[in-house]
Amino acid sequence: MLNYQSYLEQLTESADGSYPLINPHTKEEIERISECSDEQMKQAINQANQAFETLRRMTAHERSQILDRASEVVHHYKEFFAETIAKEAGKPLKYALGEVDRTVETLKFSAIEARKLEGESIPLDAAPNGAGRDAYTIFEPIGVVGAITPFNFPLNLVVHKVGPAIAAGNTIIVKPAEKTPLSSILLREALIEAGLPELALIVITGDGPRLGKVLLDSEQIKKVTFTGSPEVGRTIKSQAGLKKVTLELGNNSALYIDHSQEQRLEDIAQQAVTGSFSYNGQVCISTQRIYVHQKIADPFIQLFKKKTKELIYGNPLDSTTDISNLIDETSQNRLLEWIAEAKELGASVVTGGKSYEGGLEPTVLVNVSPEAKIYKEEAFGPVVIVNTVQDGEEALESMNHSQYGLNAGIFTNDMKQALQFGHKLNVGQVLINDLPTLRFDHMPYGGRKNSGYGYEGVKYAIQEMVNRKMISLNYSF
Ligand code: NAD
Repeated sequence: MLNYQSYLEQLTESADGSYPLINPHTKEEIERISECSDEQMKQAINQANQAFETLRRMTAHERSQILDRASEVVHHYKEFFAETIAKEAGKPLKYALGEVDRTVETLKFSAIEARKLEGESIPLDAAPNGAGRDAYTIFEPIGVVGAITPFNFPLNLVVHKVGPAIAAGNTIIVKPAEKTPLSSILLREALIEAGLPELALIVITGDGPRLGKVLLDSEQIKKVTFTGSPEVGRTIKSQAGLKKVTLELGNNSALYIDHSQEQRLEDIAQQAVTGSFSYNGQVCISTQRIYVHQKIADPFIQLFKKKTKELIYGNPLDSTTDISNLIDETSQNRLLEWIAEAKELGASVVTGGKSYEGGLEPTVLVNVSPEAKIYKEEAFGPVVIVNTVQDGEEALESMNHSQYGLNAGIFTNDMKQALQFGHKLNVGQVLINDLPTLRFDHMPYGGRKNSGYGYEGVKYAIQEMVNRKMISLNYSF
């Protein structure tokens, strides 16, 4: 039986103390979590560096088998993983189960990619003096990877770093979000049960800025992979020196619904409710800014309002729950202020807008000024804006009017319009006839502007965790 208790106890031995892990919905204490010391982090880095010698000697076949078996272990303990996510992140069970399913897939994709790390042959005789040589490239693991992860997908976003690191033959240290460390510890247990050497993946819990600095200061850490807020991303990049860095940051995802969608409005409204309010909008690609063509704006807003009001508030562990409390009260208060500011700037509330118990009502705002924070910043909560536009051109301009550039979506039957949006949207991923809240775990995934630096998506994450080496063979003498 997998458990996190024994690892938590192990961390306690040399920790600087501990803090309570609180269920964001019930406010009950779940566990006490070690505030790991700087020394613990340094020791973990040394241990992971030693374990790297073992990992780099493993064959791709062996690493792939471990990842495949880990996928089976996670699948086997699916309910336990999901309940752990529901408790520590306050994520409704239906979404927590979905996250575990995706984790199973991410591990499988990692197992596949471990077997496919292929180089290329280089025609050196293409250069004037290059005759008589063959050349090819291989990929080598880089060493110890440092991963810093957010609270909102405490399992799958950790495995998006761990799976590729192991597939490439690296070892990895995970510094999970303070509020959600348990899922990453369980993931570690699953990988060890699957045959991963114990010190190839070490989870160190505690304060982000302090422990992050120890990771970033270490010469033994060859790569830092971070998912989280743009502010922290900037700090990490400025401290990373010559280390490789990947940053997966925030977004205020935009969607355009063209007038050609009149017959599909019911379906699109239902999808948009899911895209806007899954896990209370605490998703980096949550649908936040919806632009609707003027011809269909009124019926869309009515359908969207009706379906939003049907969402069920409750305990995350209840399988019928759609909406629960936000991760903390700071987030709730911030959003209430942003809603008030948007109203002052001319917006109207279609539904929601108020707090209740520890939650925030799923909120739909219309006619929101581009000057409002809820338009400009990342909401990361259950608030979505719906603005009416004259045509696709206005929509495109408004969608690009953002400091972010991760995902964007468009629903249209007009092929030319779809292709134009595909080319002109200044984002990493364009989803045509889907929400911007769509991600499959093997697709390339990365942001522009304040949304990120580098790529994830298993194969693409691996490419950023290896060193390319070229070998040339001279047979001209
Ligand atoms: P956060 O930036 O507050 O924290 C993320 C991690 O960084 C935590 O582990 C934290 O302890 C650590 N940290 C904090 N300060 C640090 C510092 N100075 N140095 C090193 N580490 C530090 O983010 P969060 O609130 O946990 O997550 C929400 C954010 O994550 C949102 O902006 C969201 O859009 C983003 N996110 C992005 C993606 C993506 O794939 N692009 C996915 C999920 C979440």
